[in-house]
Amino acid sequence: MAKQKIFIVEDEADIRELLEYSLEREGYEVESAPEGVSALARIRRKVPDLILLDLMLPGLDGLEICRRLKQDDATRGIPIIMVTAKGEEADVVLGLGMGADDYVPKPFSPKEVAARVKAVMRRSVLDAATDEKRVVARGLLEVDPTRHKVSVAEEEIPLTATEFRILHFLAARPGRVFEREQILSFALGPNTIVTDRSVDVHIRAIRKKLGEHRDLIETVRGIGYRFSEATG
Ligand code: CA
Repeated sequence: MAKQKIFIVEDEADIRELLEYSLEREGYEVESAPEGVSALARIRRKVPDLILLDLMLPGLDGLEICRRLKQDDATRGIPIIMVTAKGEEADVVLGLGMGADDYVPKPFSPKEVAARVKAVMRRSVLDAATDEKRVVARGLLEVDPTRHKVSVAEEEIPLTATEFRILHFLAARPGRVFEREQILSFALGPNTIVTDRSVDVHIRAIRKKLGEHRDLIETVRGIGYRFSEATG
């Protein structure tokens, strides 16, 4: 199974390195940035599974970053854990109101952070599971998991079970780019035995069946695929 990815936004180098080091040791793939502008760009380009967000930052502060992440379809679903200093209790309340999942007050122990990360990740997987039953409607496309039916402009499109799961997974998260590995582990489950290449085969088959709506699934060169944000 692909490693889960964590993105850290923290301006203090020693804290950033401590977090990186301890989370990598827990088996996560970790990236980081010292400020918000580059962090937002990188998070959007390669969506992580969780964000650790310091609130007190130069330039964009943590709350503003949180607001922008939650306003954007591509990043809205990423769980956020705020990292807070003493005296920021009011900001914590605001952040949770905006949709942040949890917070860790400084000073923290790496163990404590790892435990919170694990708990929030677990919750997020459960949320994704309830998502699996949700009808997704994007423009003319409708994907109904309980009836296992896909239609474009009310015309039914026959998909295999695997094609269906991939399309539903992507369509439920428009604008988010997923690597092939992520598509495999999230859409098909961690125990599926398929190669990266087979994702391409499935995508090609789905596009063929979508016909003139084939562009709903976009290729992001060097990374993977995303479902179009345009609802046409
Ligand atoms: Ca800081």
